[in-house]
Amino acid sequence: MSTPQQYVYAFADGSREMAELLGGKGAGLAEMSRMGLPVPPGFTVTTAACRTFLATGEEPSELGLEVARQLASLERVAGRTLGAPDNPLLVSVRSGGRFSMPGMMETVLDIGLGDASVAGLARVTGNERFAWDSYRRLLQMFGHTVLGVGVGLFEDLIQGRKRAHGLKDDSALDIGQLESLVADFKSLIRKESGADFPQDPVEQLHLAMRAVFTSWNSERARLYRSREHIPDDLGTAVNVQAMVFGNLGRDSGTGVAFTRDPATGACGLYGDYLPDAQGEDVVSGVRDALSLEVLRTVLPDVYGELAGHLGMLERHYRDLCDVEFTVERGKLWVLQTRIGKRTAEAAFRIAYDLVDEERVSEDEALARVDGASLNRLMFPRFARRPSDTPLAQGIAASPGAAVGAVVFDSPSAVRRHQEGQGVVLVRAETTPDDLPGMIVAEAVVTSRGGKTSHAAVVARGMGKVCVCGAAALTVDTAERRLTTPSGVVVHEGDTVSVDGTAGTVHLGSLPLVDSEVRESLETGVRMGALSDAVRRALWHADTAAHLEVRANADTPADAALARRLGARGIGLCRTEHMFLGERRLLVEDLILARDHAARAEAMAALLPLQRLDFTGILRAMDGLPVTVRLLDPPLHEFLPDLTELSVRVAMSPDPKPRTRELLSAVRKLHERNPMLGLRGVRLGLVVPGLMALQTRAVAEAVDQRRRAGGDPRAEIMIPLVATETELRMARSEVDQVLADVSRETGRRVDCPIGTMIELPRAAVTAGRIASCADFFSFGTNDLTQTVWGMSRDDAEAAFFPLYLDREVFAVSPFESLDEEGVGELVIRAVEAGRRTRPGLMTGVCGEHGGDPASVHFFHRAGLDYVSCSPFRIPTARLEAGRAAL
Ligand code: ADP
Ligand code: MG
Ligand code: MG
Repeated sequence: MSTPQQYVYAFADGSREMAELLGGKGAGLAEMSRMGLPVPPGFTVTTAACRTFLATGEEPSELGLEVARQLASLERVAGRTLGAPDNPLLVSVRSGGRFSMPGMMETVLDIGLGDASVAGLARVTGNERFAWDSYRRLLQMFGHTVLGVGVGLFEDLIQGRKRAHGLKDDSALDIGQLESLVADFKSLIRKESGADFPQDPVEQLHLAMRAVFTSWNSERARLYRSREHIPDDLGTAVNVQAMVFGNLGRDSGTGVAFTRDPATGACGLYGDYLPDAQGEDVVSGVRDALSLEVLRTVLPDVYGELAGHLGMLERHYRDLCDVEFTVERGKLWVLQTRIGKRTAEAAFRIAYDLVDEERVSEDEALARVDGASLNRLMFPRFARRPSDTPLAQGIAASPGAAVGAVVFDSPSAVRRHQEGQGVVLVRAETTPDDLPGMIVAEAVVTSRGGKTSHAAVVARGMGKVCVCGAAALTVDTAERRLTTPSGVVVHEGDTVSVDGTAGTVHLGSLPLVDSEVRESLETGVRMGALSDAVRRALWHADTAAHLEVRANADTPADAALARRLGARGIGLCRTEHMFLGERRLLVEDLILARDHAARAEAMAALLPLQRLDFTGILRAMDGLPVTVRLLDPPLHEFLPDLTELSVRVAMSPDPKPRTRELLSAVRKLHERNPMLGLRGVRLGLVVPGLMALQTRAVAEAVDQRRRAGGDPRAEIMIPLVATETELRMARSEVDQVLADVSRETGRRVDCPIGTMIELPRAAVTAGRIASCADFFSFGTNDLTQTVWGMSRDDAEAAFFPLYLDREVFAVSPFESLDEEGVGELVIRAVEAGRRTRPGLMTGVCGEHGGDPASVHFFHRAGLDYVSCSPFRIPTARLEAGRAAL
């Protein structure tokens, strides 16, 4: 037989290790009691009791007895009896789960007070007004929380009373007025709940405990948990604690204090204080709090004592702590402590200050910071929180802050940018046609689409501020204006500020500060305490990590930037953009070519341009691997739009023969489902010479770089392979060209040749595919699309909101890798690949390579590297290091 479960623990019998059972608040109170800090005595009812109550609707049968025993011992310690008429003990009944959910559940203060004890309380405190005020507070809180009477009804009575007597503040109500309010509150409770306010103190206690249990499932608590990913089945503990009073005059008060500044991380006490007030006055903000300096001036001894306790707590917990405290007639009481919440900036500074103070190890410091915070610090931000109301609130799709003139289409963006103006591109949604405008814009705003919409993905890739799905904005591109529901009209050229971290758009120009972190990482120059801390974290992460971090980069400038930000090579060099712009005409020639000669001529024109692209990139990444992906997207992406071209031909009286030819080619190449059509390796096999052209450009660039004394390390990657046969065919063509160039130049050009694993069939047959691949690179974007059978661009708008809402998935599988499905395929493919070819290099080149949770997964899956866009490299490095701790 197992020993019977204990449901109630005196503070003195608990500890910080028991947070699961006692909740965070209970464990903190217990720990502080054991450390000898002045904590009002009390006990904690466990989360296990709550779980039983929530499951059965009844408290565990032993609970009543245990509470009675603990209450008796609390009364002994306090020297008073709960609710006794002459000298009443009052208690608070406080919620507190395993994870902090500030203000989400209920707390009832002043339990024990009633008609019989209010006079006794007045007598022992010598303050009759205080006693009646406490009673009316209890009726209000108990009536609302426990008996379900609307808060507004109590407030109405107070307002009525104040109006009748011409008073402004609650604090102006006198004893007689409070006494008659108490009577009114009691009638209100009887009328609304059908029962009298319970005068029996023990009954009050039990009802309040139940109300705290029940508040675990309140709507706001559920909502908070789902947002913070806190499980729904943990339950809350209940803390019953002797009341202390901060509202007994000038030598009383209440406040919150932090061991360091939680906003900046700076050393030194930080906090708020309110003289002559109760705890909830600070938290609820009914009165403007003063700084802790006020406490230092008014009650210097208490301040000194508080500082001592905070120092002790920080040394004990070895981290930033915050406390709630109350001063009752010059005596300090500590009511709560926890590891303090902090900003991203403070997290880095505090972690490394504590390393310097020899309180935590480098490993611990690294564990306490994270990639998401670092990512936020990489972007410029607004110097102060905007106090005006934003024009619109959308989804914070890509962080940072930007100011610019509103434009409604890509050409205007480019034109104004050329005139030297910063612009904000506002569209209902973006398409690849908007790319030129997005490239020059300071920020991109859309009224439709979510975190994985085109606008969001592209903006994040470019490290550009983006707010998407700002549904309140009506974007009228034709009239060049946008309107808000409140009737504000913004015209082209008007200035707006975009906060990509908060997801808001503001009228006018808010002041900006550059990111010290980004500047320092990019230049390698030391700039301040914050960027020093970030650099130390990254340095340590790099030494700890097993995963390498490479960049997705397709220009020399991006490659150089990525390298400065710590990339160990390029994991994905896309070649498609190298065929756009002015080169589009050459691609048209290639497609229109009727015979071998015409085709060869078009290719000969493309070759030197392409070679130049690769030389620049190999130079920027000298000595590090550069994985070049052969052409991937469907050919028609390089051709004019079918409808547009048809209209052009139809409207023109006498279209040029070339235009007509083009139209028929476009018609022929048009696909219903281009994503699953003629692309990737298929394109390479269908269009003769295409892969050879690209391979030759790479090989000749390698040769040129070597002649210039460089150390080029190109790798060739073949996309969208489904079978070993395709790869074998492609590989033999690539090998042939490498051999040709080696012969022509007189020096062997050796490039590893690998493939992307981005189709389920490739993943399942990875063992065979590995026989002709030197490396695997998981293209998790396409792999996610094909495993789930959904196109990112369409699914996003059509049903993701519903799926997220109904929790089909907690986060979009395009944002964070779906470990159960896609991840399982990755693991199996790596295993099978390495069985065939031990030492096979494996990496990831999808958007997931820069996502913190996914990086941890790839670490566990034993990959060699992840590759992501340049601005996500620091985040990926940090998380790769943290994953290895
Ligand atoms: P929350 O978790 O929402 O902060 P708390 O349980 O901490 O709720 O309580 C709300 C307020 O009541 C806090 O300001 C707290 O300091 C105050 N309070 C709680 N218990 C007591 C007590 N025994 N004596 C005085 N004030 C208390
Ligand atoms: Mg609290
Ligand atoms: Mg792909």
